[in-house]
Amino acid sequence: MKKRILLLAGGQSGEHEVSLMSARSVLNALPRDQFDVTPVVISKQGRWLPPTETQRALESGEAPSGGDLVLHRAASAEGYDAVFPLLHGPMGEDGTVQGLLTLAGIPFVGSGVLGSAVSMDKVMTKQVLASAGIPQVAWQLAVRREWQQQPDSVRDRAAGLEYPLFVKPANLGSSVGISKVARAEDLDAALNLAFRLDRRVILEAMTAHKPREVEVGILGNDAPIASPVGELQFAADFYDYETKYTEGRATMHIPAPLPADVAEQVRTLALRAFRALDCAGLARVDFFYLEETGELLLNEVNTMPGFTTTSMYPKLFEAAGLSYSALVTRLVELALEDR
Ligand code: ADP
Ligand code: MG
Ligand code: MG
Repeated sequence: MKKRILLLAGGQSGEHEVSLMSARSVLNALPRDQFDVTPVVISKQGRWLPPTETQRALESGEAPSGGDLVLHRAASAEGYDAVFPLLHGPMGEDGTVQGLLTLAGIPFVGSGVLGSAVSMDKVMTKQVLASAGIPQVAWQLAVRREWQQQPDSVRDRAAGLEYPLFVKPANLGSSVGISKVARAEDLDAALNLAFRLDRRVILEAMTAHKPREVEVGILGNDAPIASPVGELQFAADFYDYETKYTEGRATMHIPAPLPADVAEQVRTLALRAFRALDCAGLARVDFFYLEETGELLLNEVNTMPGFTTTSMYPKLFEAAGLSYSALVTRLVELALEDR
């Protein structure tokens, strides 16, 4: 019998549009002889759109407001065999939707509440990975209330990391709200921007040299496998939103032109991180590689990475011999697997 799949897309985060792009690809790729797929777009206001409006939003790349409340829809989602929550960022990739689906008793693709929540928060990720002995840049946490009431203590901690440094909302992606701060004079503006988007902000030391950015895909539950390693090359100062989503600004190299032992170390560290964070299904683990010193620093773990047919994660597994449609099929199988 065909499996009934609910494909969730859009969502309330700054990565709404990115999610719609990924969802269009997955919708086309899930083999129709095996799956009966119902897409539901979640608007930026958090409403789950009925079928005709969902179709229109997928085609136009833009969701109107209106539709059923999230809880109402989840209650009626019980008839599905599995949910594919193809949502990026807060209210989707961060354990919230995963909690709702867990409560509703519906299997879903990807990490559960714990792995999703910890991996979404860049500070929690760093804390867990530090205790697992995984190398990372130096960092500091700041919370909004402290920034409002004792800004100097935040400025002092930033100065302790030395400039240039990165200021990021702790719970976002696609480089939304991230600034590279070259001088102390520019710190306040970067913090104000990040705190508009999150209560928690991470300050990060910049890597000693401009890093090479290498990424690896992980696939599986408690016996995960690692893909070949890929590398992103771009001219911009850092991998910002524009560089990520403007055609032709960045090029993907698979496999990454790395010494074999470095690539192997990337894969080993990524698998260790995936286990330490209790991830499941899939994750893309991103690293900085400092050619000058041979250092490898783990940057972040994305539990629902970009998923268009040209995105890094599916391309990495394609290089390993798994086609896009075999990959999405495998992800649904993993969601249905007893753990
Ligand atoms: P996101 O989750 O939004 O992708 P990242 O933490 O990956 O956020 O940061 C986005 C980009 O900013 C990275 O791909 C890299 O180009 C640059 N960057 C972030 N942190 C650092 C750092 N500590 N040192 C050097 N470059 C960084
Ligand atoms: Mg990210
Ligand atoms: Mg990133």
